[in-house]
Amino acid sequence: MEPPTAPNSHAMESIATSNRTPCSRRRASSSSAPYETPASSSSTLSPESVASSSAPSSEREPHTEINTISNTNEVVLTKKICPYCDFEFKTFQNGRRHVFQAHGLRDLPAKAMSGFRPLVYNSSNLAKYTNQGKTIVVKFACISCPMAFEEKAELARHVDCQHVFPTNMSMDELPAGDHWLIGDEDMTLKFYDYRCMCLDTIRSATPMTLHTQFNELLAVSGILVLQRRNYYESLPVDTFGPGLLQAARASVLARFDHSLFDHAVQSKIQVILSNYVEDEWSGTKTRLELLTLCEAPSTNAGSRSVLLAIEGLLAFLPAKIAHCSNLIPDDLEHTANRPDYKVGVYASSGYGFAYTNAFGEVKRSPDISPTLLVKDFYRLCRFAKDAIDQHNLANVLTFQAVGSVITFFVMSLLSPHVYTMTEVKRIRLPTKKSDALDLVGHLGDLLFVADLFRNHCIPSLKDLKAWTCPTLSPLFLEDTTLSPRKRPFDLTLDN
Ligand SMILES: [Zn+2]
Ligand SMILES: [Zn+2]
Repeated sequence: MEPPTAPNSHAMESIATSNRTPCSRRRASSSSAPYETPASSSSTLSPESVASSSAPSSEREPHTEINTISNTNEVVLTKKICPYCDFEFKTFQNGRRHVFQAHGLRDLPAKAMSGFRPLVYNSSNLAKYTNQGKTIVVKFACISCPMAFEEKAELARHVDCQHVFPTNMSMDELPAGDHWLIGDEDMTLKFYDYRCMCLDTIRSATPMTLHTQFNELLAVSGILVLQRRNYYESLPVDTFGPGLLQAARASVLARFDHSLFDHAVQSKIQVILSNYVEDEWSGTKTRLELLTLCEAPSTNAGSRSVLLAIEGLLAFLPAKIAHCSNLIPDDLEHTANRPDYKVGVYASSGYGFAYTNAFGEVKRSPDISPTLLVKDFYRLCRFAKDAIDQHNLANVLTFQAVGSVITFFVMSLLSPHVYTMTEVKRIRLPTKKSDALDLVGHLGDLLFVADLFRNHCIPSLKDLKAWTCPTLSPLFLEDTTLSPRKRPFDLTLDN
């Protein structure tokens, strides 16, 4: 594969804003109360961590020290494990270094242990306290404060809410320059304000559900979803009116070149597919003709990508969808899951992995619950954002295939703390031979996606570090239950 080249320069509107007011809280429901950890499952570790009080656990106050609250026969051993992956560390300093290096989280505060040391979960302590007849309670220790938790998801939630995302987010957190302007509207400021509200919502005790609140959950990680349709139920319409979102989506898409599909090649494809549909040519002959056209000197790089895509698709007709699989070993170790599809780019100087610039999620049946689809979509957002953050990519292409419909999205970090996840094209693939000619109608769309991928999903010339913001941990979400559908689904993935 070719070495990464610089992206086309985009005319990014920027201002040096003088608006440094504290973030406003527009919604009464967005409580700014500090996040409270459930009393039954967290505790502040104390010297020796051996319990001595007889008060029942249900009466525990949050943040109380555990040696004052339970019986003397109980001993708490703390595990030193990363909140976001299974990495175990020996010292909290190493833990914070790991979180910085592996998960890109900067400036986590050092642990204040106020002079005592918790008992560590290890084989010698296990043996020692088991021999003493103690009941051993295992907890996960926070890397930045004296608290510990029974569930790892709670630890992740705590670290996110208390240490990763500023507890008092103000406009001062936002870099002043390079704001994204749509007409008179400062999208960067607006979105930041919205993020502050979402963070408050997340900190409040109300459990959030992914499928009804995915916009809020994504916004906390700095991701703004721009769908083709203009009605967004879970985005506040007073802040993001339909007209503004439509203009925002158009503004993102305008950054990508839009070449027309070569007319001569299009005519040839039409002839080839007609012969196939009319049973004049076999599937093999058809594919050979497409590949021959692909190799013709007059065929440009964009048309070539589209021809290869069509050739690949014909190999699987009749079928529900094109075949996708895990092609490349995981490079994003900390991600709890992996996408169904990803494209790895390898440096031309050798065989070293460079970056992943495309991800896909595939559901073969169109009859999938909206909850699962939105979960897939959320995962795609996370994979794409991780790739941008880790490899300084200008854009990342993603697609979600549901039955025979493929929706392409592009994620772009185009302003401080604003990652747009923009719907690019939606294409219904033919599932039977007689519909193969439908592909001719999609050539322009396929070319747009191919050009976007080849020309724009590459490392940025600009160092984007200052524009990045933290991502809500995946474990945090395991806490948010996937409840049954209660109101219309926000993310439309079918026509
Ligand atoms: Zn980790
Ligand atoms: Zn903590």
